[in-house]
Amino acid sequence: MAAKKDSKKEAKKKKPFNRYKMYSVSGDKLERKNKLCPKCGKDSYLAAHKDRLTCGKCGYVETIAKKE
Ligand SMILES: [Zn+2]
Repeated sequence: MAAKKDSKKEAKKKKPFNRYKMYSVSGDKLERKNKLCPKCGKDSYLAAHKDRLTCGKCGYVETIAKKE
């Protein structure tokens, strides 16, 4: 009756926020994948979801129009 300490802890590891995912480099150009929040300005990027972009700071939501 022991050693049931850290099985739960290991399962939930926090992912480090990867800022580099927001950019893509093409040639010598650095392109932003995510848009900036029109309300917060350059400090806040919109988080990309399946069908919308959201700002975690102010709650701004922008729906993505599908181009097909
Ligand atoms: Zn915002």
